[in-house]
Amino acid sequence: MALRIQNLNKHFANGKHALRDIELNIADGEMVALIGASGSGKSTLLRMVAGLLVADAGPGSVIEVNGQCVQREGRIVSDIRSIRSQVGFVFQQFNLVDRLPVLTNVLVGRLHAMPWLRGVMGWFNAQERSAARKVLTCARPSCSVIRAT
Ligand code: ADP
Ligand code: MG
Repeated sequence: MALRIQNLNKHFANGKHALRDIELNIADGEMVALIGASGSGKSTLLRMVAGLLVADAGPGSVIEVNGQCVQREGRIVSDIRSIRSQVGFVFQQFNLVDRLPVLTNVLVGRLHAMPWLRGVMGWFNAQERSAARKVLTCARPSCSVIRAT
């Protein structure tokens, strides 16, 4: 399972109940669009999947990515960095580097796994370039849509 979410709730400090009893399973290779009105909780959910935001400490609350726990019952796991390296995240303000080609913007996501000198010089090898081209080719036959309310 690429993503497993159970019993997820999020209250902000001001009392706003932004996410209520979220259950979501996404299989390996599945492509899913999460859509919904502004303020419905999409960004909050995605931040929690990346371990950037902690959920409420309710019983049975869990987020797993590729079978690895990101957070459980209101606590983010201690080895979150290794899990974050498997979660690609393009923020609303993009945080893309304008002067770099699209392919390099994708490859930047692999910097953590490269020897530092190759990373600093931007020397991506053929295998890395081919993997980046593959993820940019949206060849999936179908895409599910989940509507946030
Ligand atoms: P979306 O991405 O779907 O537009 P958000 O996840 O940004 O929605 O926000 C969901 C709800 O939570 C909104 O009502 C928003 O105002 C509220 N919210 C988001 N972040 C905070 C925060 N840090 N403190 C209080 N309320 C927040
Ligand atoms: Mg948003």
